Amino acid sequence: MIDLKNLTIEKTHDSFKNGVFTCTELVSEYLKVIKEKNDELNVYLEIFSDVLEQAKKADEKFADGSFTLMTGIPIAIKDNILFQGHIASSGSNILKNYTAVYNSTVVKKLKDAGAVIIGRTNMDDGAMGVSTETSAYGVTKNPHDISRVPGGSSGGSTASIAADMALVALGSDTGGSCRQPAAFCGVVGLKPTYGSVSRYGLISMGSSLDVIGAIGKNISDVKIVFDFIAGQDKMDSTSIPLDFYKKKTIDRPTIGVPRAFISEGVDPRVLLNFEEKIKKLQSLNYTVKDVELPYAKYSVPAYYVVTPAEISANLARLDGMRYGYSAEGGNLMEVYKKSRGKGFGREVRRRILLGTYVLSHGYHDAYYNKANAVRELIINDYSKAFKKVDLILTPTTTGPAFKIGEKVNDPVKMYLEDIFTGPANMAGLPAISIPSGFVEEGEKKLPLGIQFMAPHGREDLLFQIGKEFESIKDGP
Ligand code: GLN
Repeated sequence: MIDLKNLTIEKTHDSFKNGVFTCTELVSEYLKVIKEKNDELNVYLEIFSDVLEQAKKADEKFADGSFTLMTGIPIAIKDNILFQGHIASSGSNILKNYTAVYNSTVVKKLKDAGAVIIGRTNMDDGAMGVSTETSAYGVTKNPHDISRVPGGSSGGSTASIAADMALVALGSDTGGSCRQPAAFCGVVGLKPTYGSVSRYGLISMGSSLDVIGAIGKNISDVKIVFDFIAGQDKMDSTSIPLDFYKKKTIDRPTIGVPRAFISEGVDPRVLLNFEEKIKKLQSLNYTVKDVELPYAKYSVPAYYVVTPAEISANLARLDGMRYGYSAEGGNLMEVYKKSRGKGFGREVRRRILLGTYVLSHGYHDAYYNKANAVRELIINDYSKAFKKVDLILTPTTTGPAFKIGEKVNDPVKMYLEDIFTGPANMAGLPAISIPSGFVEEGEKKLPLGIQFMAPHGREDLLFQIGKEFESIKDGP
């Protein structure tokens, strides 16, 4: 028996090198857990049939000495990341049988490094949602309490870590989809700087915000995955070189807290947890200062104009003709209408309608351009704040994981879940959610997350403070 709960990338690597266990043995162990738990939790949509073959190749690399730190590391990927020859459905009916014809850059980098890609994880339809409830393949259950959602849209990936069904995972984050589910599942979720990880082969949602992120049990694992997947890529013109931003080491980064932004509509237990953590940081000699982010509260309304606009444009390619689901129809227009009507779920259709509306002639200035102007104001808020402080701290979410079905008929409540995570996407900033203890709900202990945001390119500061934060022992 391998102790999966306490396994890290480095420990795994050492175990491979020292012959404690092989990658084939480790993967078999994960497959056993997956077999036990997946029917109930619905974490994976598919376990790739070549997973043991991949493991064997990794073992060979250890035998001939051509390994890297990622060789043999079992990783789960979100269902919107292309892995050549494997299905990628983006949690959607319209891509149910779509087989990737090329590798995403992140998969290529991981495969070149020898990683073992276990399978594809459940997610909200088209990555639109905060609970995996919009998935065409049923909800994923939160491993801490199966009556609750795991968060979303990368809920399958974060649950895979919480339930020891993978060592690390990839997600995507357009408005919070790595961080919010990480908080709900009690794991670490990183949203890198926009452009620092190639989007090539990520099924697009909102192209000016999308980024692929890393998910794991701890900072060190997430950092290792990020280091392997980051970097400029000629296949993504918005990607940036690793040394794009100047980085000077900061011994004890100053932490800014936007209290006015945090006060409204937050579970008092979250606020209490947050203030306790601030005190602990202060006791470790960190300077914590108040910062103002007057426009951050407009991030949700602006995001839900900008993103649907980009979604409506990006998803136009799914027309029932080129690839994906195609319905029978008497003429071309009927094929379009039926394929899209049946292929996309309700939330995706809502976004496409909204996006088409805000881009339409006569409304473009009033909505789309206005939302982009608000986005500029949000970006300015952060640039000003980062002149005074090195990091910004907020809770990741307003509360712990909610019940399955609780918000499903109220899109606005769902959208408000992004309140603390969305601004980082609007401004392209890196941000990380780190486990911050638990709250009790009946018999269950539900995890909470805390979020650090940093200036562009300063993932290093997130990892630095993250490690420090991990060492702060939680209460009960
Ligand atoms: N909750 C947000 C949305 O539904 C963000 C999703 C994401 O980051 N992919 O759009």
